[in-house]
Amino acid sequence: MGFLTGKRALVTGIASDRSIAWGIAQAMAREGAELALTYQSERLSERVHEMAAEIDAKICLPLDVSSDDEIVRMFESLASHWNTLDIIVHSVAFAPRDQLVGAYLDTVTREGSHVAHDISSYSFVALAKYGRHMLSKQSALLTLSYLGAARSLPNYNIMGPAKASLESNVRFIAADLGAAGVRVNGISAGPIKTLAASGVGDFRQMLQTFASIAPLRRNVTIEDVGNAAAFLCSDLASGITGEIVYVDGGFHTVGVSLPA
Ligand code: NAD
Repeated sequence: MGFLTGKRALVTGIASDRSIAWGIAQAMAREGAELALTYQSERLSERVHEMAAEIDAKICLPLDVSSDDEIVRMFESLASHWNTLDIIVHSVAFAPRDQLVGAYLDTVTREGSHVAHDISSYSFVALAKYGRHMLSKQSALLTLSYLGAARSLPNYNIMGPAKASLESNVRFIAADLGAAGVRVNGISAGPIKTLAASGVGDFRQMLQTFASIAPLRRNVTIEDVGNAAAFLCSDLASGITGEIVYVDGGFHTVGVSLPA
């Protein structure tokens, strides 16, 4: 019996079989959770339905997190299938591509900043706000962050402040919902080649640099992140909330690394 048996999990953010959300959904399904998946637009509908079938997820709903109405409608649809919910995974981020290549002050704009914060940070709050009425007494929310929340990195630019805001949202939502038995955490993942990541300038070089410095001397995979996510959203992590857990091969723990 898996350690998520009896849990119902809503997983957002699957765009391809490289998506971190796909690694999370697979790990959760393996551990016995019942899954509902969302997809951003009609363009992704067929692909996400096919992937849902692979892990026996019976529910597949459209969700563009830029619209509160759409978030409310998604939870209404979900409630017609399930009366309660134990896990919400927020694996969504976006900034216009022109924000992610070049020097920060040269590229950042008011509109770019607004979009990055809205889609990548506020949307986590909105999922908690409009979904909390469905949450069971032992439930968990999880989001995905990146080292750019805490350190400057080339080209990551406005996504850094957006992830810092997201990590702060983890702590504020955890404080709000803790008394109701809801835990709220984030995973700060190391770089992984996904559709979203390919929008960040020099990403391939970033992957190589991370792997050469991280104590594990490799990049992490969606399986590494999926397993940690399944644990954090399970009752095995019952004492952990308001936390950002790094799944990055230890990269963020290194001060100085000499070339091999
Ligand atoms: P991905 O491209 O596979 O997933 C990003 C998802 O965001 C896609 O499914 C896309 O449809 C969704 N999305 C974007 N705008 C949306 C909107 N308006 N409404 C609904 N969905 C929307 O890439 P990924 O790397 O798996 O990204 C998932 C999360 O992991 C993101 O928060 C990302 O910042 C984070 N992350 C990624 C890395 C990495 O290197 N890949 C590292 C650390 C954290």
